[in-house]
Amino acid sequence: MAPATVSGRTEPAAASTGATTTRDRRTRRRVMSSAGGTAGRLSRRLCPSAQPDWPSARIIGVVGGTPEQAQVAFLDEPAPLSKELLALAEPLQPTEVFRFTAPCASAACAHFGEGRCRLASKIVRVLPEAKSELPPCPIRPQCRWWSQEGPTACLRCPQVVTHDRLQNEAWQKAADPEVMPEAVG
Ligand code: SF4
Repeated sequence: MAPATVSGRTEPAAASTGATTTRDRRTRRRVMSSAGGTAGRLSRRLCPSAQPDWPSARIIGVVGGTPEQAQVAFLDEPAPLSKELLALAEPLQPTEVFRFTAPCASAACAHFGEGRCRLASKIVRVLPEAKSELPPCPIRPQCRWWSQEGPTACLRCPQVVTHDRLQNEAWQKAADPEVMPEAVG
């Protein structure tokens, strides 16, 4: 069965993200330069680990770090998508290289139930802290994970790769929408 992703869908396995490279830095610069003036247009609760084909999806971060320890570098503000930017991820999938945001799908998402994002509830139980202080983030006031879990989510968020085929067993369990938060951690 295809592994669950952290955006409520299942996808086939793909190549992994690599270590921080010149390409990571170049990609972040290219995305940043296309971001101008979009932050104020996002007004609903936002999913911080969306798919690029969701309505109103935007890029909020670029995955760096190492295959064992990803570190997402967040943009100053969400950047609109373009074919050219998505192509920068090749031969990987865009969700291995970028973090996307889009309006939370609420009940339409496999991770949502009982009025909460269960994925966020599992992330704070399963993942260790990746930061010692809040990372700068372009969507915090509207972020679903922040509104639900507060700083506990933000300190773990930068290690989340939406399509991460190097998930360890605990994280695979957390990413499975069928697994309830109470069953992990
Ligand atoms: S750093 Fe916090 S506010 Fe920003 S996307 Fe992650 S969980 Fe949401």
